[in-house]
Amino acid sequence: MAKIILTADRAVFTDYHGADLFGFGLCLPYRLVPELVQYHILSPKVPTRGLRAKYAPYAICKVEASLIAAGFSRDDVVIVPPRMVAKAIDGDTEIVAIHVLDPKGLAPVTWTLKALAGGGKSCTELEFEKLMNVVRSLKEKYGFKVIVGGPGNWQLRGYEYKYGIDVLFDGEAELTFPIIVKKLLNGEEVPRYVKGEPTPLDKIPLIITPSRNGLVQITRGCPRKCHFCNPTMWHFRSFPLDIITEEIEFNLKNGIENISLVTEDVLLYGAHGLKLNSDAVKKLFKVVVDLARRWGAPDKIGFSHVSCASALVLKDVVKYITDIQGLSDVEPTFPQVGLESGSPRIVAKYFRGKAYPWKPEDWPSIVVEAAKLFNDSYWYPCFTYIIGFPDATPDDYIATTELIDRLKSEGFVGWTFPLLLIPMGGTIIEEEKMNFPSSCIAKLSQEAIDCMIAGCKLSAVNSKTLARRVIRIKNPLLSRIFSNLASHAIDALESWISGVERDPNIVDKVYTKVDIRSTRELTKAVLPVIVKKL
Ligand code: SF4
Repeated sequence: MAKIILTADRAVFTDYHGADLFGFGLCLPYRLVPELVQYHILSPKVPTRGLRAKYAPYAICKVEASLIAAGFSRDDVVIVPPRMVAKAIDGDTEIVAIHVLDPKGLAPVTWTLKALAGGGKSCTELEFEKLMNVVRSLKEKYGFKVIVGGPGNWQLRGYEYKYGIDVLFDGEAELTFPIIVKKLLNGEEVPRYVKGEPTPLDKIPLIITPSRNGLVQITRGCPRKCHFCNPTMWHFRSFPLDIITEEIEFNLKNGIENISLVTEDVLLYGAHGLKLNSDAVKKLFKVVVDLARRWGAPDKIGFSHVSCASALVLKDVVKYITDIQGLSDVEPTFPQVGLESGSPRIVAKYFRGKAYPWKPEDWPSIVVEAAKLFNDSYWYPCFTYIIGFPDATPDDYIATTELIDRLKSEGFVGWTFPLLLIPMGGTIIEEEKMNFPSSCIAKLSQEAIDCMIAGCKLSAVNSKTLARRVIRIKNPLLSRIFSNLASHAIDALESWISGVERDPNIVDKVYTKVDIRSTRELTKAVLPVIVKKL
């Protein structure tokens, strides 16, 4: 068997049924996610060839490629999904490396959903613990070393002993991770915390296992320097086009049907700092769309994030991206966009760079103008905004509520979701050790609660029109089941909103007791609704 096993828990190691957005469903407390929904809809099993996963999360593919580039053989390294871990580990295993996103349920979306729902362990946390129970007991038997890395590694500080973690790895893997692995294999001392060095672009190897949902990275880092952000601490780079196309072709050749670009802001591709590069972004989309068509793959190219200021600087590029892919009201795109706050004071203090080249006081208008541009181009964004900046005043929350009202009155199509601020490890605010308000909804100021409700209400209304466009599943029965589940989720959101509007203590008094995890509870609470609507 292999010397080095690479894996992740089931909330990370899945294809989310082709819809990465389903990953957010796993951020809910597991008592609110029926097992059937979690394991068959949100996080289905990844197929394998023998023990090896047929595809894997992109970051794990990169780690595997780095080990092979550093001299390990393919037989030395195997990527296995969590259900195969117990079979893959034996007396030959020397290293088990685990990629983590949200192992303790502290990522902003999870943190917020837990607070809104009245607490409880999230599916992400549950799955991490399940995996670590298996790894820990096998470690006692075989004595291998455990390395844990990935964006959620900060959540595990102080838990190393509990989970049997030998090395907590932060930062970029390509250069440093293979060195750490070699040291461990040679029996050398390795510090408990390792920070991976930034990797020059020419030292980042191409993936050799296809990536889940066709994800391929186009930029790394972000130059806007928002104080609550982790990726901004990484040096900003854009990957050369030939590297991107090689990875896409590799995926397509190996049975992956989609193309999705990983970036903190798709319009930053090819930028020099914050000097945007219109030609580079246009060329990227032209080349990738042509490639997709040549391979007979869908020519709607997914991308995760974009920013309002970039869009207003590169208005022509937003239109170009829409035209070249043929986006329409029936086939729109759904990027995630940070709105963060409607208060220029908060912008100036915590995320001045996000408004660049404009000033903090221009921010509300930047958001409204960008929203119009997005919607005119069939981009229906999910705007997220932050509740809980350490010194946020009632006036700051009122400014954000007013901005949401402006979006509504302009006919904005998309979502506006509040996120409770949590000082993620490695961010500027975490380093400053500031005081944060309570994550208990009832303890927030009335203005903060009103601000949360304003965004949730607009999201609920727009979800009704957008649900059908988000759920694009060919199988008619599955499509109807998913649509009915979505409609049930929107009803639940509306009932949460009206409950909290009446009395914020309802979260602790009532919502905290809801449990639809078991098949019995599911049958009682959800199935009649689904069946009725079929
Ligand atoms: S714009 Fe987004 S990715 Fe860039 S620093 Fe700000 S929050 Fe981070």
